[in-house]
Amino acid sequence: MNVLVINCGSSSLKYQLFDMSDESVLAKGLVERIGIEGSKLKQEVEGKEELVIQVPMANHKEALGHVLDALQDNAKGAIKALDEINAVGHRVVHAGEKYSGSVIIDDGVMAALEECIELAPLHNPPNIIGVKAMQELLPHAQNVGVFDTAFHQTMPQSAYVYALPYEYYEKDHVRRYGFHGTSHKYVSQRAAAMLGKKIEDTKIITCHLGNGASLAAVDGGKSVDTSMGFTPLEGLVMGTRCGDIDPQIITYIMAKEGKTIDEMNDIMNKKSGVLGISGVSSDFRDIENAAKEGNERAELALDVYHDNVRKYIASYAAVLGGVDGIVFTAGLGENSISSRATICKNLEFMGVVLDAEKNNVRGKETFINTDDSKVKIMVIPTNEELMIARDTVELVK
Ligand code: ADP
Repeated sequence: MNVLVINCGSSSLKYQLFDMSDESVLAKGLVERIGIEGSKLKQEVEGKEELVIQVPMANHKEALGHVLDALQDNAKGAIKALDEINAVGHRVVHAGEKYSGSVIIDDGVMAALEECIELAPLHNPPNIIGVKAMQELLPHAQNVGVFDTAFHQTMPQSAYVYALPYEYYEKDHVRRYGFHGTSHKYVSQRAAAMLGKKIEDTKIITCHLGNGASLAAVDGGKSVDTSMGFTPLEGLVMGTRCGDIDPQIITYIMAKEGKTIDEMNDIMNKKSGVLGISGVSSDFRDIENAAKEGNERAELALDVYHDNVRKYIASYAAVLGGVDGIVFTAGLGENSISSRATICKNLEFMGVVLDAEKNNVRGKETFINTDDSKVKIMVIPTNEELMIARDTVELVK
């Protein structure tokens, strides 16, 4: 069975076509600048030249039309006809409290996703447009929704209720949802396999450290706590997002600096995090380089970041009542040798001992703890696309 996995962002779209008989990737591509000048599609197929399409693409539907053309391209494509695509898996960010697993998308699911737009105004609309476009362009294929929030629906109420008047939860659905669920699920399953244990018998802390970043406490394969909350703004310090701050700061700055709600949202989501502290960049490679050259604010940004992740790890050890493994994944987690080393410092007291030599690795599934470390430390490249393809096969077969 061939499964097309689609991840629609606000102005971009990533896709991968899998042959699920052996989980191989037949094609992968990226469309950027959808709806703005300079739209561009790039596609890679193993053993073939890269395909580039540069034509105006006014919306996601047009972009997906070009994706289907690219997949069928005579010289650089992967399939001969559209009926070789048997099902489509969609990454959908927010499913509220409605779904705790992936589902085949029907009218009822579409209605539920539309209802969730108010919870994820930036993310859900392009996801929904992607589903509608595929329903039209590939009417023979079933569409499956795989939700970022679903994996965290197992959290106990004590982990997801905020200490606000309870009516805001009941009336307005204000609660912790958590995100990056597909990634936390994938790496926790891989971690159990690496540990040679049944997932039911594992306690794992997964650190998804990319541009957006979150931790999850995974007990027996189930998420019991996670650092992102009502929105993907809470929790860790991120590339451009502030993560946890004293909520009173928001109204204080708004009053003092005369900021509007939109301006404040922009500051907290796009101008804060390590970019805000360092003034250098949101990209950790730039910040690491600046710190090496003696830029003190870049150094401070890294210190704040690393301390923050370390605090979360220690608190999740308490949530789990013990830890078998800590997983580092996503851009920074998979690649930053120095960040992993700094984060693990001071955790020796709870049996977390990093091996400097083994840690000298990037983007490869491996252990990086010393032989006598009680807690195993793992680097596991995440693969949200494969997870989406697996869920899709499971549901449509
Ligand atoms: P997202 O999918 O959230 O956009 P990624 O998981 O791709 O993000 O992670 C992007 C982040 O990973 C960037 O901040 C980048 O600096 C960081 N990163 C990637 N490679 C390295 C590296 N070799 N060293 C340090 N940071 C890295």
